[in-house]
Amino acid sequence: MYELIKKDGLAKRGRLHTVHGTVETPVFMNVGTAAAIKGAVSTDDLRQIKTQVELSNTYHLHVRPGDEIVKKLGGLHRFMNWDKPILTDSGGFQVFSLASLRKIKEEGVHFHSHIDGRKIFMGPEESMQIQSNLASTIAMAFDECPSSVADRKYMANSVARTSRWLKRCKDEMARLNSLPDTINPHQLLFGINQGGIYEDIRVEHAQQIAEMDLDGYAVGGLAVGESHEDMYRILDAVVPHLPKDKPTYLMGVGTPANILEAVDRGVDFFDCVYPSRNGRHGHVYTNHGKMNLFNAKYELDERPIEEGCGCPACRSYSRAYIRHLLKAKEMLGMRLCVLHNLYFYNTMMEEIRDAIDAGEYRQYKKRKLEKLSQKS
Ligand SMILES: [Zn+2]
Repeated sequence: MYELIKKDGLAKRGRLHTVHGTVETPVFMNVGTAAAIKGAVSTDDLRQIKTQVELSNTYHLHVRPGDEIVKKLGGLHRFMNWDKPILTDSGGFQVFSLASLRKIKEEGVHFHSHIDGRKIFMGPEESMQIQSNLASTIAMAFDECPSSVADRKYMANSVARTSRWLKRCKDEMARLNSLPDTINPHQLLFGINQGGIYEDIRVEHAQQIAEMDLDGYAVGGLAVGESHEDMYRILDAVVPHLPKDKPTYLMGVGTPANILEAVDRGVDFFDCVYPSRNGRHGHVYTNHGKMNLFNAKYELDERPIEEGCGCPACRSYSRAYIRHLLKAKEMLGMRLCVLHNLYFYNTMMEEIRDAIDAGEYRQYKKRKLEKLSQKS
């Protein structure tokens, strides 16, 4: 159940109550594609860096180790030793971005695995079945994620099919949740808005899915190469048509600045690979701009990545040491940078929640954007 606690302009401060605990929103979900955050980050680490929701990937876990295996091992929570909420995406995005030789039909998509080339079929029912086996807290509806430059006609047809698929997802989820051997019979379902950069298609689709009384609503198909201006324009148009008394999730976004802007437009769930991916390359976020720890100027720098940061990297190690680890390709260097970056994102979300609570989100956003744009 979602509770809207406070609004500050369009910014929403909410609380999602689930069988795996309560999520304070706005929230940044930490991406662990194959049931682990890349960079050797354990679930014990997640507990130390303020992670509220872990996000895993349906397609990847279906291909390896197989969702049936995860079910036999008691579901994802038990498998990875994480008792807080988990969101699984539907596999739709990966089917359309990673898999090869796909064929889209009304019943679903035929494609080849990117690991071993074997043939796989995934439609709405299969995606729900896999996510039910994984037993995540929140399942995402199976949608087509068309290229953002697809023409109008293609986009309109694709969105219509995504709506039909959503109805099938909802029916299948209800059926699975009623079965006696389902690990999480309280699994929630979020629908996904599509329509590329066509405002009218997006809005009409948002109105359609809003009527379906789902547990939450996502905006998908953004952050796939369009400009930031297009992203904000679509959010301005679409979010007002999604139910305010439900979570609003912007998929795959984004930079700290993107998140600050989207919160201001009513979004309160986010996920993105940036903090972990950038961390693995020695790029770290701070309140004085981004830093590249490979830079020679940190060779003798004994300060932490960021003074005052409470993350496991900053509490114990210097820039000079982490730079050395990165240069020596020691896994610890990568790990420390990922931990710092996720802590930075999770802490920013905490600041965002406090600012909305205090009714001063706009002032906070302005100050934070100024800090983030500094050159370090
Ligand atoms: Zn830190």
